[in-house]
Amino acid sequence: CAAAALVVRRQMRCAGRWARVAEILKELEERCGTPEGRLRQVADAMAVEMHAGLASEGGSKLKMLISYVDNLPTGDEEGVFYALDLGGTNFRVLRVQLGGKEAGVVNQEFAEASIPPNLMVGTSDELFDYIAAELAKFISQEGDNFHLPPGRQRELGFTFSFPVMQLSIASGTLIRWTKGFSIDDTVGQDVVVELTRAMERQGVDMRVSALVNDTIGTLAGGRYTNKDVVIAVILGTGTNAAYVERAQAIPKLHGPPPKSGEMVINMEWGNFRSSHLPLTEYDHALDAESLNPGEQIFEKITSGMYLGEVVRRVLCKMADEAALFGDTVPPKLKTPFILRTPEMSAMHHDTSPDLRVVGDKLKDILEISNTSLKTRKVVVELCNIVATRGARLAAAGVFGILKKMGRDTSREGETQKTVIAMDGGLYEHYTAYRTCLENTLNELLGEEISKSVSVELSNDGSGIGAALLAASHSHYLEATEC
Ligand code: BGC
Ligand code: MG
Repeated sequence: CAAAALVVRRQMRCAGRWARVAEILKELEERCGTPEGRLRQVADAMAVEMHAGLASEGGSKLKMLISYVDNLPTGDEEGVFYALDLGGTNFRVLRVQLGGKEAGVVNQEFAEASIPPNLMVGTSDELFDYIAAELAKFISQEGDNFHLPPGRQRELGFTFSFPVMQLSIASGTLIRWTKGFSIDDTVGQDVVVELTRAMERQGVDMRVSALVNDTIGTLAGGRYTNKDVVIAVILGTGTNAAYVERAQAIPKLHGPPPKSGEMVINMEWGNFRSSHLPLTEYDHALDAESLNPGEQIFEKITSGMYLGEVVRRVLCKMADEAALFGDTVPPKLKTPFILRTPEMSAMHHDTSPDLRVVGDKLKDILEISNTSLKTRKVVVELCNIVATRGARLAAAGVFGILKKMGRDTSREGETQKTVIAMDGGLYEHYTAYRTCLENTLNELLGEEISKSVSVELSNDGSGIGAALLAASHSHYLEATEC
């Protein structure tokens, strides 16, 4: 009889725990909700902030940075150019031989290296010396497949994927770091000067011809292969968008208007914020404990660096308040950023009947073994809620840009095509996220317009794009034109 009572008590406690789990889940789902009406409000707010950011410097949380790119690649670019892509956990060095209209990209080679985590929070010289040393290594291994005319200095397109106040096409000061980088002495400095000095220290004879954000590189690379590309979006470690704006619509653009009448704008949409964004207690805590509190709020709910971390925080609460993983909170689960978005994606996509992948990941990453199927289902549901919110908000952001550009409705008799070049590991590898983003964009555009708007994966287009912009801003080109 006593034993039976114990069982009943245990069952009741268990039922209480699951009720609490369900409650936390339900609350999260409600708070993360992105019904169509809310997405339209987000898109409208995005368009409003775009206007404000273009009107004056500091007019909005959206920096709407002038890129000094007023002509996108035409296909005529020729010669050997280099590109350096620094922006996340990896960086890449590229060498590209451009053959002009007929030939296109004749040859390309690249090397990739990861940034040692200590360099992301060290000193400016250390970071740039490391990069320049990798560049030196790359050049020293150069074969004879590439032909640089004798006496000509190598030229580089520098893709630097952080907010930069450009001073010209080949110079600009760092506004602030994002994505886990935090090196105080670089802020306010011209990153081209920083790189150039490091190259000199490492004996690399090269000049930076173009300094570009990864969104600008992606836009340039996308346009090279498809003339309808007018927007580029990055969804990777961080997130951002760039688009082609009419010069006349940029009140803060001073000086002689560009001949093309256009200017590419780096929105820095990761820093977008609006009362319409569905933020939860987990997001507020994540933000408060981040390296950049109060900043990059849109990025913190949509991009790859943070999605897994949001999930971890919810799991922590469930472990703590509903004993989801037993009587104590598993110690590993308390480690910030231990649950990375690729692992979250793997769990989210687990189609095995017993959710084996989820079980394995929980065990391997968090050292939580013997989870029940019910527990694993909760984990998948969590991933779904967090990824869906991110993807739908990213779609709303794109829709906001289309609205600002007047490409969200069809004009009579017009069959203007709009292509959005997208890149970044999150978009590329997280299938459920990508599918949700694309479906949501179509939902917002409506059936008719969605036929003329398409999203294209621009796989590492930013490297080629930077090389193309180095080519069109080549020092030698200007010399001959004069
Ligand atoms: C940076 C942007 C960049 C984006 C994607 C953000 O954190 O602020 O400059 O384009 O990440 O890499
Ligand atoms: Mg990148």
